[in-house]
Amino acid sequence: MAPISVQGFFKASRAAVADVELRRKLENANTRQRDHAARAITEFPSYQREKDAARAVKEEAIGRLDQLLLELRRKLQARGVKVFFAADAAEARDYIVKVARHAGAKLVVKGKSMTTEEIELNEALEHANIEVLETDLGEYIVQLRGEKPSHIITPAIHLSKEDIGELFQNKLQVPYTSEPAALTAIARERLRASFLRAEMGVTGVNFAIAETGTLVLVENEGNGRMTATMPETFVAVMGLEKVIPRLDDLSHFLEILARTATGQKLTTYTSFINGPRRPGELDGTREMHVVILDNGRSRMLADPVLRETLYCLRCGACLNVCPVYDRIGGHAYGSTYPGPIGSILSPELFGKSASHLPFASTLCGACKEVCPVKIDIPRILLHLRAKASADSEGIRWPWAAERARKGARRFARVARHPWAARMLGRMAGLILRPFAHDGYLRRMPPPFNAWTKGRDFPLPHSKPKATDARHPPGT
Ligand code: SF4
Repeated sequence: MAPISVQGFFKASRAAVADVELRRKLENANTRQRDHAARAITEFPSYQREKDAARAVKEEAIGRLDQLLLELRRKLQARGVKVFFAADAAEARDYIVKVARHAGAKLVVKGKSMTTEEIELNEALEHANIEVLETDLGEYIVQLRGEKPSHIITPAIHLSKEDIGELFQNKLQVPYTSEPAALTAIARERLRASFLRAEMGVTGVNFAIAETGTLVLVENEGNGRMTATMPETFVAVMGLEKVIPRLDDLSHFLEILARTATGQKLTTYTSFINGPRRPGELDGTREMHVVILDNGRSRMLADPVLRETLYCLRCGACLNVCPVYDRIGGHAYGSTYPGPIGSILSPELFGKSASHLPFASTLCGACKEVCPVKIDIPRILLHLRAKASADSEGIRWPWAAERARKGARRFARVARHPWAARMLGRMAGLILRPFAHDGYLRRMPPPFNAWTKGRDFPLPHSKPKATDARHPPGT
């Protein structure tokens, strides 16, 4: 999905911030995810060591991506898997639609896959009169609502169990319930029969092991495994960065991925897929295809700063800690990939229409702290901001943003003279003190009122602050 314009982003963000109910749901869900992950990481003393090891594997894999992809293709083809390299989203979509037509598919079941969201596969299959059914519970819910996922691992994070109860009542004509177990049972009953009826299954890939030609799927519901094994034809869609060199490398990723993403030691299902059914085997898919997608990834590879983006495991942890995502949720970004990782991926995947997204960050660094493969997201954001500013045609700044840029330029001029900045700060502190409550200003006059519409402003100090001995400068 091509991201919305910068004006659209501002409009959607304002609406999301004003939606108190949405903010409550996001805060609840993000706090829960952060707490679970923090506990799982604290209980695992080797976490930092595994993180370093996983990072080292990614550095190696991305450093010799061409060799590894050829090795992966060779190993897969030797077992009868058809491998297709897609230069862009259109090539990937066309190939998969052709495979579906060839398989005579009337129904395609899908496991969770952000890569297929990226290439808008559902729309392409539906355009070819082929029904598509998402089988991951969160994806199924957003599909029923006609929405896109709002988080890369928890697609329905913006909904409460009451919202889902109402949705099922309206769309599936079942009695209302908000009991999570009952809601899951309703979805399971609807989805089970579809696995048997579908002629084709499509999933993403978490890791592709070059040494053995094995695809690894990591999930909690078992729907990915059924999608990959029950229909006669199976298509796996992976970004070219998903390849890792050896089977031994996998354990480092399995040790960190679930802990960081959901706070589990391991996900419930880890499936290893080596190819279609072999002679003498009683089950498994008869035909298997792997689509390896570029779609801008080689451009990232060629950029020494951006290439680190390709280390991403799509664990979603950077979304859970991001103060911007926490306030506006995923849909406001208007991109398949929201949050910090989306802000560094989208400009290369979707082009100029996403060049404003690297500005949707406070640069607080929480994303870098939490990332299990230590991606320096703030550095990449600054790199992309510099690129976007150099090519200012890519951004048509709305009036409010232009005003903020002018204000920042004026501030920069004053800040070059520290004595003047101090003097102005003290004067402002003295003048504004009568209007402050507990050291904060609730309202400010134009042009500063844009700030206090959404948050309080700390009163500038009218006297020099004594240095806190616990936090000496430079710490
Ligand atoms: S950038 Fe890091 S934290 Fe964010 S989704 Fe990717 S691996 Fe996870």
